[in-house]
Amino acid sequence: MSTGPNEQAFQNVRKLISDVCQQMNIAEMCRVRLMECERELTIHFPIKMDDGEVRVFTGFRVVHNDSRGPSKGGIRYHPDVNLDEVRALAALMTLKTAVAGVPYGGAKGAVICDPRTLSQTELERLTRRYASDIAIIMGPDSDIPAPDVGTNPQIMAWIMDTYSMGRGYSVPAVVTGKPLEIGGSNGRFEATGRGCMVSALLAAKHLGLNPLEATVVVQGCGNVGATGADLLAREGCRVMAISDSRGGVYNPKGIDLEGLFARKRETGSVIGFRNAETLTNAELLELKCDILVVAALEHALVKANAPSVKARIIVEGANGPTTPDANKILCDNGIFIVPDILANAGGVIVSYLEWVQGLQSFYWGEEEVNNYLRRLMTSAFTEVLHLSQLNKVDMRTAAYMTALRQLAAAMTIRGVFP
Ligand code: NAD
Repeated sequence: MSTGPNEQAFQNVRKLISDVCQQMNIAEMCRVRLMECERELTIHFPIKMDDGEVRVFTGFRVVHNDSRGPSKGGIRYHPDVNLDEVRALAALMTLKTAVAGVPYGGAKGAVICDPRTLSQTELERLTRRYASDIAIIMGPDSDIPAPDVGTNPQIMAWIMDTYSMGRGYSVPAVVTGKPLEIGGSNGRFEATGRGCMVSALLAAKHLGLNPLEATVVVQGCGNVGATGADLLAREGCRVMAISDSRGGVYNPKGIDLEGLFARKRETGSVIGFRNAETLTNAELLELKCDILVVAALEHALVKANAPSVKARIIVEGANGPTTPDANKILCDNGIFIVPDILANAGGVIVSYLEWVQGLQSFYWGEEEVNNYLRRLMTSAFTEVLHLSQLNKVDMRTAAYMTALRQLAAAMTIRGVFP
């Protein structure tokens, strides 16, 4: 496989999978299978815009591995997304579902578009056409999408409805992250941010930090970042700074999050919020704090800025926010990193409950869902920390070890067809 400039993200994940497989003496037949994605669908589809013009959009759905169960992974709408990024994200899902201990494989989907420039009707037509085109892979027993950057519960509802129309009956289990009214789960919207909060507090406890004295900085003010910030504040932490794609706001005494979220809803950005100074995303990542939650996009922490990061703990709410170079620098500087495949697993844990609910037509209350999330996150964190201490490796390597052990066992037991 070639590795051009746009093909680094998947290459980074492949390299770590390969290195850890070799370190653990995992069978070669498992390692080589994990080096590639099982299925890759690229589609170019026409959409009639509101002004009558027909535009062609490009979308992807990639299944990395389904040895442990149906593949699972979000759908991203973003102007810069590409196939390599989708492959990397699909592979991370394979690892994440294994670390979390939910019976899924890994997948990811995307459409190259800027959803902020589309009208609701254009967004609906684009989503329905994309859902219809990926239906050859997607299904409640085969491949189950969920929200990611640029998509939301309404988009999941259109996907569910489109798939159901093709079948002639309602199929709620085909997608998770749906609105509650059509079979969404209590607590799903907040689940990824809640998982970040749980893992941040477990990391703080491990390092002997009192949450009531902990300072927090959050990059990204979307589903994961805003919820993570809010829940950490509710646990008594002081959230000093938060940002979105336009920049960040900072108040060392703590940000009034309720007011900030209202401003973001009204103006579309956190910028200009009262009682806080404005700063760039680059400056935000270098603030001295106890917990830095990176919850925006890939490659926020790179070789150039890693030496300037002054956090004690980094919680990777985003997928792939740290490049391998940066990871080494941060670990060498003694920063405790809760890696993406562990830190942001809360979403897929509650997605699993939503899927089971859809299959069984049985529903759990919010408290039960949140307790289940906390139990699985705590057990995954404890297992990864244990392996990290036992093998004297960083938490990312230990999380890969946990996942790859499960994956190798599943692949070996299933064998190779035919
Ligand atoms: P979202 O679209 O709701 O929010 C993304 C946020 O990041 C927005 O506030 C955006 O303005 C901000 N942003 C974009 N570029 C930025 C930059 N350069 N600097 C600072 N902020 C920037 O997306 P989300 O669902 O919150 O996802 C965020 C990350 O979490 C992604 O990496 C995603 O893959 C990962 N994730 C999401 C879920 C989920 O359930 N939503 C689950 C697991 C992982």
